[in-house]
Amino acid sequence: MGSLQLKSIRKTFGSHEVLKGIDLEVKDGEFVIFVGPSGCGKSTLLRTIAGLEDATSGSVQIDGVEVGHVAPAKRGIAMVFQSYALYPHLTVKDNMGLGLKQAGVAKAEIEEKVGKAAGMLSLDPYLARRPAELSGGQRQRVAIGRAIVREPKLFLFDEPLSNLDAALRVNTRLEIARLHRSLKATMIYVTHDQVEAMTLADKIVVLNAGQIEQVGSPMELYNHPANAFVAGFIGSPQ
Ligand code: ADP
Ligand code: MG
Repeated sequence: MGSLQLKSIRKTFGSHEVLKGIDLEVKDGEFVIFVGPSGCGKSTLLRTIAGLEDATSGSVQIDGVEVGHVAPAKRGIAMVFQSYALYPHLTVKDNMGLGLKQAGVAKAEIEEKVGKAAGMLSLDPYLARRPAELSGGQRQRVAIGRAIVREPKLFLFDEPLSNLDAALRVNTRLEIARLHRSLKATMIYVTHDQVEAMTLADKIVVLNAGQIEQVGSPMELYNHPANAFVAGFIGSPQ
């Protein structure tokens, strides 16, 4: 379970309206990509879904339940950022298990879940290391592992690969695609990399200045862009 319904989401910072009425349906298990120029509101929209920002108006529903007043930790969501946000003094294992520990999960269960996630992400050899002893790609896998162990209904990724070099980006992208298949979770993923968008997405949402320009499968958007803006982003030339 992990469907999402956004209805007329607006978000204003001071006098700046950053989200101007966003309506979107995400089905359980879908992989949805948000693309759009820098500053168009992608991160603000993800943060609003996660509950890290409150919408100025509109409604966020997860599996049909309004979550506007539900705390971020209670939404069944895990978020992975561009910066890995790992604790430098904790080992890989403890970084991955911290959220479970804070939630009062028993030690044996934490061990089991962290072990399973480490296996999925090929992190077993690194469990005793600290983040400074890892490459950028390994650190991002730890951040993804930390999200997986909580078994969220919904994963939110905010440009997770943009700090990685080209080869690692490809590997980690394939890994995320594999995870999506094996976990069958809903994933919403922000990127401005066209290859990531075209290869990962069931559905692409093109945002521009706080509004949705078009929603469709990669092929729909590529073959039938609604306007020149969408064509410029992903479509073929009009
Ligand atoms: P994107 O992720 O698409 O690059 P953001 O959602 O980060 O865009 O930002 C959209 C706009 O909202 C930008 O103009 C940004 O400066 C503004 N913004 C984002 N967060 C805040 C905030 N906490 N306070 C004021 N303005 C903000
Ligand atoms: Mg952003």
